[in-house]
Amino acid sequence: MFGLIGHLTSLEHAQSVAKELGYPEYADQGLDFWCSAPPQIVDDITVTSVTGQKIQGKYVESCFLPEMLATRRIKAATRKVVNAMAHAQKHGINITALGGFSSIIFENFNLQQIQQIRNVKLEFERFTTGNTHTAYIICKQVEQAAPKLNIELSKATVAVCGATGDIGSAVCRWLNSRTDVADLLLIARNQERLQDLQAELGRGKIMDLNEALPQADIVVWVASMPKGMEIDPLVLKPTCLLIDGGYPKNLSTQIQRSGVHVLKGGIVEHSLDIEWKIMSIVNMDSPARHLFACFAESMLLEFERWYTNFSWGRNRITVEKMDEIGRVSLKHGFRPLLV
Ligand code: NDP
Repeated sequence: MFGLIGHLTSLEHAQSVAKELGYPEYADQGLDFWCSAPPQIVDDITVTSVTGQKIQGKYVESCFLPEMLATRRIKAATRKVVNAMAHAQKHGINITALGGFSSIIFENFNLQQIQQIRNVKLEFERFTTGNTHTAYIICKQVEQAAPKLNIELSKATVAVCGATGDIGSAVCRWLNSRTDVADLLLIARNQERLQDLQAELGRGKIMDLNEALPQADIVVWVASMPKGMEIDPLVLKPTCLLIDGGYPKNLSTQIQRSGVHVLKGGIVEHSLDIEWKIMSIVNMDSPARHLFACFAESMLLEFERWYTNFSWGRNRITVEKMDEIGRVSLKHGFRPLLV
């Protein structure tokens, strides 16, 4: 059995979903209540591969909310993640994806040190960040969506916002070694990590976001931001592909300008309907078919019986691992979202 640990995008979103899912006692509560709420399994899932194989899974709502980071409720945020992991393990789930901020919190706050959660000793090999599949899907979105806008990769400048992150660095590695992109612009705040990445790639220009946006034909947005941000579409090139891979989405408003195409990054489409309700709750356009690539990674690991933390740690994703997960992604009927 596979598991998905997820969370909602804001307190307002959580309150409305609680009502919808039949938890009225959560619906009118503020952030403090959510800080103390335990994890819950709220969905049973059946996925069928195009090979005919069927697998079962469960969705674990961690009750984490991005406002906990924004208001420095760090202890609550970290408790949410490890408690949800213990909950998944207690329910006998073989492989669970740490969706959205779960893996970021796990890494940033060194949660591998907290192995004992009451009577559960966490077995980390039962968890995966899902970031290898996410990075692979984002790269395929770059490769397949660019030609539709008549952007030739060999002439294109690609800006990666969040370049030094786990997903961003993997995207940079792929673009550097598997494509002939003309130029790579590397954006993040920590300059030392940017210089390390630039040295590893042997190329790339370190740049401030405001300087990079007017130069980019393609922008890959994979920064870990608790709230979306607005960018002025007028600063972008007349033809520009924006791939928004963040959760919550990094770009808060839909950019309305002809020539600028915004794609939901890191989202896959499955070839067959998935039996679940959770994707309608997070407002996916086609909730039976569309899902986060990180969630799909735990499904793929279950299909293949690869009970291992396939994606783990930070900045260790290789292009070979991306190939490996990409191969089974295609085999079981997943493809990158291109609309
Ligand atoms: P990491 O924490 O590993 O990396 C985040 C990156 O963003 C770092 O380079 C960081 O560098 C940069 N960053 C953070 N804040 C800012 C800022 N204000 N301006 C510029 N850069 C910034 O995150 P991941 O790679 O694990 O995840 C990235 C995003 O992808 C997250 O939003 C996550 O929720 C989403 N995601 C989506 C998935 C999907 O299935 N679609 C799956 C998993 C994650 P610095 O701190 O130096 O600025």
